[in-house]
Amino acid sequence: MKPTEIRDENGLAAFLDTMDLRLKELGHRKGLAHFHQLLGEPHEDLTRLNTEFVDLLLTDENDRIVDYWKTGISDSRLNRRLKLFADTILSSRIGNDPELFEISHPIEQKIISFQPEMGGKIISRSEQGKILESEPDRSRRRTAYYAGKALDERIEFDVVRLFEKRNELAVKLGYPDYVALGLKLQEIDENELRELFEQVKTSTEDIWTQTCRRIVRDMGIDAIEPWDLSYYIHTVLKSPAPERFPKKDIIPTFKAELKKAGGDLEKLPIRVIERDIPYGGLCMTIEFGKDIRILANPRDGLQWYDAVFHEFGHAIHGSLLDTSSYIVAGGDPSFFWEGVAGMYERIVHEPSFLKGTFGLDDDQIDQIRHQTRLSRILWFRRIAVSCLLEWAVYRGETDPRGLLAELTKEYLGLSVPDDTGWAGNTLYTTHPLYSQNYLLMDVMALHTIEAIREKFGAYPGPDLFEFVNMYYVKPGGWIPWREKIRSATGKDLTADALGRYLSA
Ligand SMILES: [Zn+2]
Repeated sequence: MKPTEIRDENGLAAFLDTMDLRLKELGHRKGLAHFHQLLGEPHEDLTRLNTEFVDLLLTDENDRIVDYWKTGISDSRLNRRLKLFADTILSSRIGNDPELFEISHPIEQKIISFQPEMGGKIISRSEQGKILESEPDRSRRRTAYYAGKALDERIEFDVVRLFEKRNELAVKLGYPDYVALGLKLQEIDENELRELFEQVKTSTEDIWTQTCRRIVRDMGIDAIEPWDLSYYIHTVLKSPAPERFPKKDIIPTFKAELKKAGGDLEKLPIRVIERDIPYGGLCMTIEFGKDIRILANPRDGLQWYDAVFHEFGHAIHGSLLDTSSYIVAGGDPSFFWEGVAGMYERIVHEPSFLKGTFGLDDDQIDQIRHQTRLSRILWFRRIAVSCLLEWAVYRGETDPRGLLAELTKEYLGLSVPDDTGWAGNTLYTTHPLYSQNYLLMDVMALHTIEAIREKFGAYPGPDLFEFVNMYYVKPGGWIPWREKIRSATGKDLTADALGRYLSA
């Protein structure tokens, strides 16, 4: 049946205009509420906001409109808008489900208020991370590791319920499980991803095995424990001290780099707020094009330049995309957003940057590049573990701890105690099926960087900002991501460039 009030394509466009305005207003309020929630400040009631989303999106009338107009629209932009509106409704069926929200919201609050404790003393997450990276006393590192794991126990029961609920909703919508629906909404193919995990593992097997042998030898230990890896990479491996990369210079350095790349940070609606948050950094879009806030809690050290440059990448994306339609503006899949952030993050690893900004010599640059590559390999292998475990739990795995131990043995070559918790991986709650996007980030960024080098002779260079904006940022969701990558780089996206980086 034709929805009565919409007679033609103009009518449909007018309907989507209304939806755009209302979603934009709700999105703005939700962004603010989340921001203040993270900061522990008064904020609008998220349960009520959630209900407003449901009332707006999940109506029979919307379903009828989408269903009626999903074929035969002559205007391709209108067609794209409607497709993204349909996706918004579909993800809202899970993302805004009131019963699910009742489970997830309290977990999120537990995550936000969680504070690790060592020897009866509360420490910040940032201190905890610092101990794992630089504390020579192995038993103190072990204590810091378990201090973080306390969160697992506190939320595991609820996280399992959350997984069950998401699954139940996905099945109700006609999907075999939540993994199938969640990956589809992100335009990711599970089999391709499994192949990518395998490719990462195979292409880094030699270097990883050697590294594990070296860790045991250099640290004089019998076997690697989870609290040894970060310490080895950041402290045992020879590299310039973290103080060479002072925290206070991170933002001015980004500003200077952006200028060299053709952009002006002063002209963008971006603010940075320092807080101890449960993530390395977080970019919050309060309003596309108008109000973007970065939350971060950096310390001295190059990896914090990496983290903050990454968040600036997101912030530039959120600042400069086409805002003519709210639904379309946010229409790129998450990994594409990560890929754009990666285009700025990877500046930090470039020899020209390390030399020019910190005056490092060739030996130091080699040390950093080796250290960064090992961190990346470790990270990618951890991502594989995290995803495979997450999928298995959605598919009914009854012993997640046992599987975590198995996967950790397979991908990292180390044993974790059987009682090691898994539920404290906060992404499982706040960003389900997300970890792979950090691997896909490098797939996309390295693919694009190779193309930039061919075209302009250098990365980073004076054309970087304009190039990324023109091809990736400005079109927002109007152009599907595959086409954007093809027109920017002249090629379809493959993991070849990542492969070359990992096995270099
Ligand atoms: Zn990111």
